[in-house]
Amino acid sequence: MAAAGAGLAELGFAEAAPAWRLRSEQFPSKVGGRPAWLGAAGLPGPAEMSCVLCGRPLAFVLQLYAPLPGRADAFHRGLFLFCCRAPPCCAGLRVFRNQLPRKNDFYSYEPPSEDPPPETGESMCLQLKSGAHLCRVCGCLGPKTCSRCHRAHYCSKEHQTLDWRLGHKQACTQSDNLDTTVPDHNFLFPEFEIVIETEDEITPQTVEKEDESEIRGSMDEAPEEELDSMAKHESREDNVFQKFKTKIALEPEQILRYGRGIAPIWISAENIPQEKDIPDCPCGAKRIFEFQVMPQLLNYLKADRLGRSVDWGVLAIFTCAESCRLGTGYTEEFVWKQDVTDRP
Ligand SMILES: [Zn+2]
Ligand SMILES: [Zn+2]
Ligand SMILES: [Zn+2]
Ligand SMILES: [Zn+2]
Repeated sequence: MAAAGAGLAELGFAEAAPAWRLRSEQFPSKVGGRPAWLGAAGLPGPAEMSCVLCGRPLAFVLQLYAPLPGRADAFHRGLFLFCCRAPPCCAGLRVFRNQLPRKNDFYSYEPPSEDPPPETGESMCLQLKSGAHLCRVCGCLGPKTCSRCHRAHYCSKEHQTLDWRLGHKQACTQSDNLDTTVPDHNFLFPEFEIVIETEDEITPQTVEKEDESEIRGSMDEAPEEELDSMAKHESREDNVFQKFKTKIALEPEQILRYGRGIAPIWISAENIPQEKDIPDCPCGAKRIFEFQVMPQLLNYLKADRLGRSVDWGVLAIFTCAESCRLGTGYTEEFVWKQDVTDRP
């Protein structure tokens, strides 16, 4: 992904792609399936991969390949977004960043081939080049093993139980190649490649400026003018939502907008974060906006089949402005969730 020039967003679209294109060696941007981890060392462990609200294992939503031009230590760079899809919670969100120099232990110095690799009959890859095993259900770090066969790995008791019920009970003692007998656990989201296109400039700058001053103005209302301010609030809400709709109207299928340091577009006037709401990176640097996930992605996730499910208006991801290197592994960044305001 190229850097966004002059504040223009790059738009992401979900498209079907052959499985080989979505493997780690291809440095994919993708939705769903198992994460195609970038660095094979320092993966987030089960504690980091669980929901901060309900404690259950998170499901992989998407990853973006987002290197930083001019930064030798971030020649490869990936952002990995996870959400809780366990009802009734379905609310936790976490995002992790990883980066590698061009010369590293895991990948060729040269760019990957654009041709499909020879068919090796290789099964699902549940082990990383670092030797670390991945959970058969979610594809995250799997430090637990089946105590009978010692060949099946899991992130958690919960995923071990799920795999046992859905087939490992039989495969445990029989199968020679466990990786080819991974059942559908109904846990992963459907998999797509994310294809990136630069957005055409469609909104005149002057219109945007007017909108912003209007928003700021109505935030300063005095409390005694409550009725008046309620009316203004409603029109402000309409304004923000209208602007959102106008902005995406030309490319209604966009599932994400990328642009490090650009302004996100909000779907509602409520719950727009202030600077103080975005925590600094543990390295001390500020976090800046990097990309946002649009509600259109929900259509591809087909997450609503279980009734109560994952939902959002906009997910805005903020990352360390320095893209620092704390240790060798994955660094947690910050997600802000904005819901669509309920309208009477
Ligand atoms: Zn949860
Ligand atoms: Zn798992
Ligand atoms: Zn077993
Ligand atoms: Zn930092």
